[in-house]
Amino acid sequence: MEALLDLMRAAGDRITTSRRLLAGALLDRQGPITAEELCSLVQAQAPDISISTIYRNLEELARLEIVEHSHLGHGSAVYQLTSSAQAHLVCDGCGKTLVAPKELFEDLARQAAARYGFTVDPRHFAIQGYCQDCQTSGAPS
Ligand SMILES: [Zn+2]
Ligand SMILES: [Zn+2]
Repeated sequence: MEALLDLMRAAGDRITTSRRLLAGALLDRQGPITAEELCSLVQAQAPDISISTIYRNLEELARLEIVEHSHLGHGSAVYQLTSSAQAHLVCDGCGKTLVAPKELFEDLARQAAARYGFTVDPRHFAIQGYCQDCQTSGAPS
């Protein structure tokens, strides 16, 4: 927590109550979380803080590269701490989300760079497909 606040201070950020609570909620979650969920966690401790304050703070933390957003499916964007952000595989059948280790994208990243000079960002969008359980129960493959 202190490390995160130090990072925010170093970036010239003012540590307000809402930012401190927001950082705490992101750290506790240790995974992707929507702005709405973050808002209710923060409001449990400070009911006056509005969703627009949460969005403004998330934007600011994203600008400082402390937080990043990604899209796991058709719903709201989710936020995670950049220091621990991971890529995800999401099942179109049951909605299950799996963490995708970095190694999974190494070949793709290497080839995209070598052939097209393109830098792959596997974390911004999840890879969609079907999990093992859904395949065995007859979803399209
Ligand atoms: Zn986006
Ligand atoms: Zn599934």
